[in-house]
Amino acid sequence: MNYSRQFLIKPGSKVRLRDIDPDFKDKNKKVALKLIELNNLRLRELQELLYAEHKRSLLLCLQAMDTGGKDGIIRHALGAMNPQGCRVASFRKPTSLERDHDFLWRAHRDVPAKSEVGIFNRSYYEDVLVVRVHELAPKAAWSKHYDQINDFEQSLSENGTHILKFFLHISKDEQLKRFKERLDDPSKHWKISESDYTERKRWDEYMTAFEDMLSRCSTKHAPWFVIPANHKWFRDLAVSQIMVEYLEGMHMKSPPPSVDINKIRKQYHQAKKDQ
Ligand code: ATP
Ligand code: MG
Repeated sequence: MNYSRQFLIKPGSKVRLRDIDPDFKDKNKKVALKLIELNNLRLRELQELLYAEHKRSLLLCLQAMDTGGKDGIIRHALGAMNPQGCRVASFRKPTSLERDHDFLWRAHRDVPAKSEVGIFNRSYYEDVLVVRVHELAPKAAWSKHYDQINDFEQSLSENGTHILKFFLHISKDEQLKRFKERLDDPSKHWKISESDYTERKRWDEYMTAFEDMLSRCSTKHAPWFVIPANHKWFRDLAVSQIMVEYLEGMHMKSPPPSVDINKIRKQYHQAKKDQ
């Protein structure tokens, strides 16, 4: 099992989402839940190292159609982390202040600081997705965003921000099933919005926009992963596994002590005697 390799979009490759099975799974649910638990324990340790090392940060970008599971990933796969070192930023329709700046301004503000894990629930990629599909900007403007995003991510990465990007891939049928579940469960009614249904009508246009985003912006320093997400538990397993594999590859080390430990040990024994 090497999900990092299996679900990675190789830089420069041309993505066709209809060739990627959103139903894919290679474990059963029981095994997956056990593995998620183990991954979560390991993620907690790795996050603590990132925090202790205080040199680098990790940015996770989540993109998906509505009900794709962005919230689920944040809750389940990342719930294990220490909230002290985590920050979630959600990207909605830009405010008038945000619109007065370039499209990357609001994102840059929320990029995680050294030692932090930052999660972008949607991201600056909306500027080549919803903006493209709804023609909120002329093509001449949004088509430049791909290169601008690649430059931005390269600059972040050269300055110590490690970037992983996850596209949660669900089928159109699965989305309808999840809409129904929301309708049938009054405790989920607050999640329903009319825009879910209007965006669904543009499914194919969104898929084309996602394909271009994945083909043009998966780079060595900021790779995209397409996660089969029809099975929520497999989605959580794949994301947590890729995060563990990635963080382990960062070879983080606890920093050396800033004090003379032997001296402190003597002080401790003295304090115990004086008690
Ligand atoms: P949920 O899954 O809980 O509904 P959500 O991420 O869909 O969460 P919403 O508040 O429902 O959150 O939707 C945010 C909306 O903001 C999305 O429709 C998204 O496309 C839109 N949005 C984000 N960035 C931009 C942008 N740059 N320009 C225009 N619309 C944007
Ligand atoms: Mg929504």
